[in-house]
Amino acid sequence: MKYLIVGNGVAGVNAAKTIAESEPGAQIAIYAAEHYPYYNRWQLPAFLAGELSQEEIYFYPEQWYIDHGITVKLGLAVKAIVPMARQVILTDGAEVRYDRLLLAAGSSPAVPPIEGANQAGVFILRTIDHALAIKEYAARARNAIVIGGGLLGLEAARSLRVLGLSVTVVELFPRLLPRQLDIQGAGTLQELIERAGVKVITGAATEQIQGDGKAAGVRLKGGTVAQGELVLISAGIRPNTQLAKEANIQAKRGILVNERMQSSAPDIYAAGDVAEFNGQVYGIIPAAIEQARVAALSMMGADVAPYTGTIPSTTLKVVGIDLTSMGEVNPEGEGFTELRFADRAQGMYRKIVLRNGRIVGAILLGDKKNVSPIARLIKAQTDVSTQASRLSERDFDFRTLFAPAAPQASRYECTVCGYIYDPAKGDPEANVPAGAPFESLPEGWVCPQCGASKAMFTRLED
Ligand SMILES: Cc1cc2nc3c(=O)[nH]c(=O)nc-3n(C[C@H](O)[C@H](O)[C@H](O)COP(=O)(O)OP(=O)(O)OC[C@H]3O[C@@H](n4cnc5c(N)ncnc54)[C@H](O)[C@@H]3O)c2cc1C
Repeated sequence: MKYLIVGNGVAGVNAAKTIAESEPGAQIAIYAAEHYPYYNRWQLPAFLAGELSQEEIYFYPEQWYIDHGITVKLGLAVKAIVPMARQVILTDGAEVRYDRLLLAAGSSPAVPPIEGANQAGVFILRTIDHALAIKEYAARARNAIVIGGGLLGLEAARSLRVLGLSVTVVELFPRLLPRQLDIQGAGTLQELIERAGVKVITGAATEQIQGDGKAAGVRLKGGTVAQGELVLISAGIRPNTQLAKEANIQAKRGILVNERMQSSAPDIYAAGDVAEFNGQVYGIIPAAIEQARVAALSMMGADVAPYTGTIPSTTLKVVGIDLTSMGEVNPEGEGFTELRFADRAQGMYRKIVLRNGRIVGAILLGDKKNVSPIARLIKAQTDVSTQASRLSERDFDFRTLFAPAAPQASRYECTVCGYIYDPAKGDPEANVPAGAPFESLPEGWVCPQCGASKAMFTRLED
């Protein structure tokens, strides 16, 4: 069987890994538009800040691909798909046949039509090349403006601060992180961000990027002008659906897939940021990994539990701020109960959203210890109604909602990608033997699925 994968990101590489491990000897080829080996896109802000080197964000050594029988063609993109002939055409003109094709082409930053956005000094951040260009420009700039106060915008703002620039974040919505927070949580976060030296302007539509060929600042609706020679636009994503659309594969915002990750064309699948399932383009790593696994197993014709969607969970990675948002945090409609605890001075905010006595969403700001138990309660749909009145107590420990278990080495969950370190299994690829407790792992050990450090893990209560 010849598997061809378009895209060398987390979805493409994880699908290739699943196939290689389940079907030794399969022919697997990945075509990659970028020139760099697979890297942790989520670590680009740390790379931009100079906290990680380019080599440190690469994920697998070259030998890994050889060992797994995976061929990767860097800098060679797919420019067309011919489903009838089961072929793709590459940018160098070559035609390549496939038995199964996975579209894992990811997404690109959405750039709203702002006047002046094509000037020097205006950037987006999605790739290593983007980060390198920003770094070079930042060395000559003093003031930066980040358009968009979402997760990526805030992480990039911090990186630019670390590089010594004075930074203003401009958000169209009346609050920061509109998708992950509510008004109260966003207010507390804004105070924390401002304490870290980043200026924030919310409810501000950018009308124009000023400058005479080189960015000089942005003019906001109402006439306010923010000065800045470096402007970073971080206004969401646009799935890379063009290839699919040109081949008459059905796509709306993303490529439409069913619960086996099949597209509308025979033997063509999609996963990750490029895919749309049940009206949702997730745009996050845990969804890309789950979808890649289902796609890979479906392509192999293996038995696989249907994909039913991913509970959105995101963590802001800004030093000193612990913020996780999971599930439905701003529910619309009836039948929801919202329970809150807030201590603005301490930078703490916790919101729990209940439906039918079960937790369906949570915002946890300054409350890292409850992240993992609450994630587990959401997944297990545990009925917590008898304790509901206590969930808004400051020190309520959500672990008490699980039945007590015999003491044993705990499992730990990665807050970036959802990988679970299970001491019973260890991590054979990193030579960690079965039975090794998480606490005993060496400091340099990283998540085998996304490269996150030990500090990014939280304990699961068994
Ligand atoms: C700065 C930043 C920080 C982020 N932080 C987080 C985070 O903390 N947590 C989280 O869950 N998510 C985060 N994300 C989002 C996360 O990175 C994406 O959800 C994830 O990368 C999606 O993986 P993917 O494989 O679908 O697509 P991508 O990672 O976009 O990979 C797709 C690849 O396909 C290539 N490609 C496209 N077209 C072609 C073609 N025609 N031929 C060949 N190759 C092609 C692209 O060049 C790209 O390399 C972050 C994203 C960014 C940019």
